[in-house]
Amino acid sequence: MRWLDKRYHSLNYELRKLFGKKVIKLSLNGGFTCPNRDGTIGTKGCLFCSDYGSGEFAGNKKLSIKEQIFQQIDLLSDKWRTGKYIAYFQSFTNTYGTIEDLRDKYEQALSVEGVVGLAIATRPDCLSEDILDLLEEFSNKCYLWVELGLQTIHDDTARLIRRGYPLMTFDDALKRLRSRGINVVVHLILGLPKEDYKDMIESVKYVSEEDIQGVKFHLMHILKGTDLYEYYKEHPFSLLSKNEYISIVSDAIEILDPNIVIHRLTGDGAKDMLIAPRWSLNKLGVLSGIDMELKRRNSYQGIKSE
Ligand code: SF4
Repeated sequence: MRWLDKRYHSLNYELRKLFGKKVIKLSLNGGFTCPNRDGTIGTKGCLFCSDYGSGEFAGNKKLSIKEQIFQQIDLLSDKWRTGKYIAYFQSFTNTYGTIEDLRDKYEQALSVEGVVGLAIATRPDCLSEDILDLLEEFSNKCYLWVELGLQTIHDDTARLIRRGYPLMTFDDALKRLRSRGINVVVHLILGLPKEDYKDMIESVKYVSEEDIQGVKFHLMHILKGTDLYEYYKEHPFSLLSKNEYISIVSDAIEILDPNIVIHRLTGDGAKDMLIAPRWSLNKLGVLSGIDMELKRRNSYQGIKSE
């Protein structure tokens, strides 16, 4: 198979190709906030966002970046302590700070032996020219990608989930990042309220035709303590079943450009916070279901992308 044991271009495959061995991502909390929460754009955040700012599994912000990295490496079993790591700035908006603070935190991460790259999750409206200069500088000295939480290309849905920016802001940020050679990974959520199959596939097609280097597919899941949970109680909408999700993700893989690396294929809700769908807790079951579906179809990433 073209991508080792998978029928899609996995991140594991890509990192092994680049670094010669398995590379582990360490999820960090840089202690940032988000303009969609601090009142700059909004105060309530995206509808689905928890108090952890989409970083339920990230480190403890009371620790320095270096301490978080050491702690996370310590927690790894011997099998996963491969000696090569990507520092993943996951919680909240990781370009929302002063240049000095950002530089210090990114540098701290890279100063730890074995950290070969940075993954920086942010919003497309938090990329000023100064920030882009900084990201370009770091992308010239390490492997780096920037993650943008687009979730959907449909502005009606974006308003419903209080994303806080229109599609054109994403388009503009993507152009500016790519003009500096910075790798971009885009997040999409499948199963958003009021979206049907056609809407989801349109989002996948759209990003597949853009100059992006990676994608993360998330399953719409509902966490305790989020406004989405309140919305769900007031306006129950149907959540995808496991079989529906596997089928839609397989369709998405088939239309996705084979050069785009798939960083994630399902959601990752913390067990004690997840309201629904509970089947998503069996992540391995979902992943193997996708493998089996692609095998059943004798299909692979990009088979329908031309
Ligand atoms: S942009 Fe990210 S951190 Fe900010 S409110 Fe939305 S999901 Fe939460």
